[in-house]
Amino acid sequence: MATSETLQSGVCPRCGSTEVYRNTESRGERIQLVVSSTLRFLLATYLCASCGHFEEHIPPDDLHNEKLIKKIKESWHKVG
Ligand SMILES: [Zn+2]
Repeated sequence: MATSETLQSGVCPRCGSTEVYRNTESRGERIQLVVSSTLRFLLATYLCASCGHFEEHIPPDDLHNEKLIKKIKESWHKVG
């Protein structure tokens, strides 16, 4: 996915607003994507305060976590 098509660019791909915010700091308040009882991602959430469009992204560090990715590939359905 090209960065320019996501809120990560700081510009909303839906409405063009730059009122884009991201939750990062407080670990305890981050949304978690539970993969199994012991494996989970902490999601980075991006929100456009103008139109309400939001996106959740897996932090790059977790994308390189082989255990997590292996579990996803085993238990989730591939799209397409
Ligand atoms: Zn927007």
